[in-house]
Amino acid sequence: MSNFVSVIFCRNCSSRFVEISEWTQDGKAIVQCRSCNNKETLANFTLGRGKISSTELQNARDTMAKRGRYEK
Ligand SMILES: [Zn+2]
Repeated sequence: MSNFVSVIFCRNCSSRFVEISEWTQDGKAIVQCRSCNNKETLANFTLGRGKISSTELQNARDTMAKRGRYEK
């Protein structure tokens, strides 16, 4: 049985090395790309981690949401 997850990618450089680097005083997550240091604050979402196969990672890249086109 497989489990469906969403993967977060950096929109600046497409890196998968995205993590929560710190938290704000009011409890928001500051998400940071380890590849290019792009940062953004998330108020109502958080991240989890798991190990997925290279094939599934490529599937996630192929279905990456873009402006005007939702993920498949
Ligand atoms: Zn990046």
